[in-house]
Amino acid sequence: MYFSHLFAPTLREVPAEAEVVSHQLLVRAGFIRKSSSGVYTYLPLAWRVIKKISAIVREEMNKAGGQEILMPIMQPAEIWLESGRWQVYGKELFRLQDRHERDFCLSPTHEELVTDLVRSNVSSYRQLPLFLYQIQNKYRDERRPRFGLMRGREFIMKDLYSFDRDEEGLEITYRKMYQAYQTIFKRCGLDFRPVEADSGAIGGSVTHEFMVLAESGEAQIVYCSNCDYAANVEIAPCFPSENSKEPLQKREKVATPSQTTIEEVAGFLKIPAHKLIKTLFYQADQEIIAALVRGDRMINEIKLQKLHPALTLEMASAEKVKEITGCRPGFVGPVSLKNIKIYADEEIKTMVNAICGANEEGYHLINVQPHQDFDVFAYGDLRMSEAGEACPHCHAALKTARGIEVGQVFKLGTKYSKALGAKYSDEQGQEKFMVMGCYGIGISRTMASAVEQNYDDEGIIWPMAIAPYHVVIIPVSIKDNLLWEKSLEIYRALREKGIEVILDDRDERAGVKFKDADLIGYPIRLTVGKKFKEEEKIELKLRGDQAVKFVSTQEIIMVVMDILARELKY
Ligand code: ATP
Ligand code: MG
Repeated sequence: MYFSHLFAPTLREVPAEAEVVSHQLLVRAGFIRKSSSGVYTYLPLAWRVIKKISAIVREEMNKAGGQEILMPIMQPAEIWLESGRWQVYGKELFRLQDRHERDFCLSPTHEELVTDLVRSNVSSYRQLPLFLYQIQNKYRDERRPRFGLMRGREFIMKDLYSFDRDEEGLEITYRKMYQAYQTIFKRCGLDFRPVEADSGAIGGSVTHEFMVLAESGEAQIVYCSNCDYAANVEIAPCFPSENSKEPLQKREKVATPSQTTIEEVAGFLKIPAHKLIKTLFYQADQEIIAALVRGDRMINEIKLQKLHPALTLEMASAEKVKEITGCRPGFVGPVSLKNIKIYADEEIKTMVNAICGANEEGYHLINVQPHQDFDVFAYGDLRMSEAGEACPHCHAALKTARGIEVGQVFKLGTKYSKALGAKYSDEQGQEKFMVMGCYGIGISRTMASAVEQNYDDEGIIWPMAIAPYHVVIIPVSIKDNLLWEKSLEIYRALREKGIEVILDDRDERAGVKFKDADLIGYPIRLTVGKKFKEEEKIELKLRGDQAVKFVSTQEIIMVVMDILARELKY
């Protein structure tokens, strides 16, 4: 491809709304353009990357026994009512009606549709196991679409669904998929880690997320420095601290004028933050509940929702809090709270002489004794795991890292086969529910993650396996016939070998072409310039390296092919 023909509108300026590197670079380098919030067009360069990631995913899914299909994006409400998710999915589900006012949704995921397909077409144990997958657009009306392709409202996903005869079958399938995922992300050139995770709205019990490690990641993970334990902080268990031996003091009300945050109150009273009780109020469906964690801890809403099952759980508004406690959030506490369920983290149980809001503007209570001063509806593990926490497997200290979830594998069990009645008859002619699993990969998010992990001040540094083109050829001047002719000759020779190459044929200064090549991130740059005239040599530079090499014109094709063979091997 000649660069002048390529539709890759590059920008000099970083778009103001782009907060993360992948968003900035993919827009600047002419890979994507926004259509509406969280919805993007993939321009030719991006589409080539997407196709490469998809090809790797397809190969590995096929190897694992998957069969590719394509299901409708528009799904009837009936099957979602059958599974119960028409309500559960809430505002994230894009809903629409046809001209007969029948309800439909745009698919955020396909458990219902695939289960419906299989229940009406599979009836015997001989047809199982069955693994069906597709690569297709998904739709989720995310609360905060952001970071470009990272969290879109329309995005590309690979989703595979497995149907097994029993739990043992599912176990084998799950391991096979887990393995395939390891291979996929390794082949894509990513630094990643599988972690234990929460199953969220999809359901099921056992699940792992595949996290690409990057500072910009929205997920926080903990991992053990000693064994192979790794988990999303959302589910990582925390262990309660020792009982305090402090003698109990008498409770008192103290003035804390304008001191509303944990830091302010701790500073004002000259006590450490862990002596405070943090009181938070949540709207859990129709009910308001209170949750308590130690002042220096973060509440874990996923754990709270497990302890108090509710379809939706959101922070209560300041007005609601005032209605219940009589004051604004900075001065609230559990003592004297009436007619409201209080959930408390295990650590609260062991606190003595604690400090909390007095439910009166400008006052806190000191020397509060949780075991006698208020009623807790239920104690549980409600806090977010942190660095230094004990590993649940070996008790060594955990470390933390940030990650981008690029894939997730779930054991669904019989959740959907029971809800929708997907049964088969076994060898004895007995009817049984199929045992399911589902396995997703965010293809478009994987592309953005690759950029988050591979860039420098100049632009993107594509891993070879998913680079839009492998090579760019830059004649330093196209007006110089000798340089142009040689560039063309190399271009043709590389194309003949099936190598994906761009020839920068623009009548521009070499500096401009280098800048664009670095921004777009081709792994191999060949420059035909002064050294060619002097010594018949081509300058070769790898995008990820500073060094340049000079290679004779006779050898250049072989050298490029060697690099490709080495890098694309897995
Ligand atoms: P998240 O927790 O990030 O919202 P999820 O757990 O809801 O994601 P899954 O239902 O597991 O997502 O979907 C499978 C994969 O699809 C995810 O691992 C992720 O890579 C991708 N994905 C999910 N939501 C989005 C989105 N809004 N934009 C881009 N990719 C997404
Ligand atoms: Mg997920």
